[in-house]
Amino acid sequence: MLQMFMPLGTLGIIYRMLKYTLADMDLVLKLLQREEEIQDAPDARPLQVTRGRVEFEHVGFAYNEDRPILKDITFSIEPGRKVAVVGPSGAGKSTLARLLFRFYDVSSGRIVIDDQDIRQVTQQSLRAAIGIVPQDTVLFNESIFYNIQYARPDASREEVEQAARHAHIHDFIVNLPQGYDTIVGERGLKLSGGEKQRVAIARVILKNPVILVFDEATSSLDSQSEQAILAALREVAEQHTTLVVAHRLSTIVDADEILVMEAGQILERGTHATLLARDGLYSHMWALQQKEQHELLQSGPPPRDV
Ligand code: ADP
Ligand code: MG
Repeated sequence: MLQMFMPLGTLGIIYRMLKYTLADMDLVLKLLQREEEIQDAPDARPLQVTRGRVEFEHVGFAYNEDRPILKDITFSIEPGRKVAVVGPSGAGKSTLARLLFRFYDVSSGRIVIDDQDIRQVTQQSLRAAIGIVPQDTVLFNESIFYNIQYARPDASREEVEQAARHAHIHDFIVNLPQGYDTIVGERGLKLSGGEKQRVAIARVILKNPVILVFDEATSSLDSQSEQAILAALREVAEQHTTLVVAHRLSTIVDADEILVMEAGQILERGTHATLLARDGLYSHMWALQQKEQHELLQSGPPPRDV
């Protein structure tokens, strides 16, 4: 019955998901709905990744026609380079990441990877080429080993542990009561925001995609978690074309280009040094965050990572 309107791959996903909770099911349904919206072009071909160059060309986008979100966004990320996007909440930063992954199609302009419009390639090949560390990582109610290996089911135990080491979460895992076999997720051990992000980084390391998208968590991480995540991310980003959505500017001072977004537009762009010299939105955001940091140091330790 289901087969009549769902591709076999989708059925497989549903089958595998049946053992998870309703909360997970809800997520799967959302993903399926998204998949329905976006279809492969009839002549879609697999993405040929040669160097991992990413370009947004005059991209416009609206979730609903009456409310434009992104307006004329143009930038490129050279192979192996890092572009950071900053700006107030609601500016459209996460939307950029969603468009690159083709959860939605652009309303105007185009997104190109290695000279191929992402609407002309198969979604499967596109998503295989991109690794996302999302703002909020969803864990399955399975072992932490499964949760990392999920990124590449044929990975060996050694490879999973190696990825966890690079993500600076191996030591944490081996100190859990049942180590890698500890059940995590809503019904198991609940991990903090920082720990979940490190699991997501381990997944990305294991997947080893050419393009990396990192949507920083908004929740305040304690500085130890932040340092560990930053260290993990720097190591991974070195060999990848990277798009980072950053909330803490201190995390992206080394980016090759920083895009400062407001209300769906790029207001300023440049390196950390050139933006600071400009005395615009970026330098104001920087001054504000420096002040907050200073006050935090004066008032004792920051709140525990949640
Ligand atoms: P940011 O990551 O910069 O905080 P987002 O890209 O998440 O911003 O969102 C940009 C704008 O798009 C916001 O005004 C948000 O309310 C809106 N938006 C985000 N997701 C959806 C959606 N699925 N449907 C409709 N509007 C959305
Ligand atoms: Mg966001």
